Amino acid sequence: MDNPGGLAYTWDMLGQEVSGEDKTLREMVLRYSRLVEISVTLNSTLDLDRLLQFIIDSAADLVDSEGASILLVNDKSKDLYFAAATGSDPNELAEIPVPLDGSLAGTVFREDRPLIINEVANDPRHFRDVGERINFQTRSLIGVPMRIHDDVTGVLEAVNKRKGMFDAADEQMLSIIASQAAVAINNARLVDALQRAYDELGKLDRLKSEFISIASHELRTPLALILGYASILKEDAGEAAAEHVTAVLNSAMRMRSLIEDMTNLNLLRIGSSEMNFEVQPLQSVVRAAHEEVRETIQAKGQDLAVELWDETIMARVDGPKLSMALTNLLNNALRFTPAEGHIHLSLGLHRQEAWFQVIDDGIGIPEVELERIFQPFYQVEDHLTRRHEGMGLGLAIVRGVAAAHGGRAWAESEGPGQGSTFTIAIPLPA
Ligand code: ADP
Repeated sequence: MDNPGGLAYTWDMLGQEVSGEDKTLREMVLRYSRLVEISVTLNSTLDLDRLLQFIIDSAADLVDSEGASILLVNDKSKDLYFAAATGSDPNELAEIPVPLDGSLAGTVFREDRPLIINEVANDPRHFRDVGERINFQTRSLIGVPMRIHDDVTGVLEAVNKRKGMFDAADEQMLSIIASQAAVAINNARLVDALQRAYDELGKLDRLKSEFISIASHELRTPLALILGYASILKEDAGEAAAEHVTAVLNSAMRMRSLIEDMTNLNLLRIGSSEMNFEVQPLQSVVRAAHEEVRETIQAKGQDLAVELWDETIMARVDGPKLSMALTNLLNNALRFTPAEGHIHLSLGLHRQEAWFQVIDDGIGIPEVELERIFQPFYQVEDHLTRRHEGMGLGLAIVRGVAAAHGGRAWAESEGPGQGSTFTIAIPLPA
C-alpha cells in the first residue's frame, strides 16, 4: 500500500519500533506530545506576530533544523513573501519576493504537495537570492503547503537539518503544524481585520457625535433669536398677521425640540466615564436649564415659577449634563401642560440629597406608565396617534445622568389629568 498523508508510515514505524528500540519510540512519543502542546497554543493565540514567531520556532524545534520560515501569498503580485523566519531580520526578508517558479516554496505552493531537497547545491528548484542577500548557507530544505480546506494559503519551510537528512517523519510533523497554523493565521488575520474595522467605526462614531454636538450648538443661537423676535412680533401683530407669526413660532419650536432630540441621542451613548465633574453651586445648574427654555415659555405664553433653596448648595456635578437633564424635564412639562397650566421648578435639600423638581398640572401619567416612561424610546401615546413630538429619549437621559451622579430620578402622578412631578435626587457629601 502507498502512504497517503504519511500516517500509515508512522504506524509501520511505530510497530517496528515497539518490538525493537524503546529509545526511538520514546522520541516519537515526545514529538507527538510536543505537537499536542503546539496545537493548544496555536488555537489560543490571536496576536498575528506572536503566532507567526511561535509557529516557526516550534517547526524548527520539532524537525531539529537550524531555522524555519513561513511564506504567504502576496495577493497583488501573486509572489510569495516571508511572513516570518527564524534567525533573520524579518523586515529584510519581507522585501525579497519569492517567485512561484524556480523556488522550493513556489513548487510546494503550485503543486500543493510537500517537498524535500537534501542537497540544494545543484538543485534548480532552490531559489538562491535569499541566501545570498542575507548571507546564509542553505544545505537542505523541506517545505509543506499550508491549507485551509482546499486552498493553499502559504508554505511552511524548515532549513538545514542538524543531524542527518529530512525524512518522511519530518514531513509529517511539519504538515500537521502547517494545517493548524494556516487556520490559526487566518483566525488571527480575521480578528485583526475586525479590530481595525471596529476602531474605524469608533472613529466615525466619534466624528458623528462631534458633528451632532457642533451642529446642535450652532443651530441653537439663531433659533433662539427667531423664537425671541417671533414672540415679540406675535404680541404686536394684528389678527391677520398673528396667524402667520404663530406658524413661524410653531415651526421654530418644532426645530428646537428636534435639536434637543439630537443632543439627547448624543448623550444617550455617553457613559459615566465621559462625565466632567466639578464642584459648583447647584443653583447655577437650575438657572442654566431655565435659560434654555426661556424662549419656548415666552413663545407659548406659559407660566413657570422657579423656587431656589436660599443657601448656596455646592456639589461635585457635571453642570452641563445635569442642566440638560433638567431641561428635558422642563420641556416635557411645557409640552404636556396646556397654555393656561402651571409649571413649578425647584431646588431643595432633603436629608443628604439635593432634589431638583419639576411639577406641572398638565395631562398627568397613568400609574402603570410611571416606570416605563424612563425606558429609551418609550412614549405613553402611540407613535401613530400621538399629538406630541419627541423621540422618547428625554427621560432615559434624565435617569442616566442621575445615575452617573450616584443619584436617582423618578416620576409621580395622581393619574391622567392630575399633573406630574419629576424629581432628580443627587447625593451630597456628608
Ligand atoms: P419624549 O418626550 O421625547 O416622548 P421622554 O422620555 O422625555 O420622551 O418622555 C417619555 C414619555 O413620558 C412622553 O412621551 C410622555 O408620554 C411621558 N411624559 C414625560 N413627561 C411628562 C409630563 N410632564 N406629563 C405627562 N407625560 C409625560
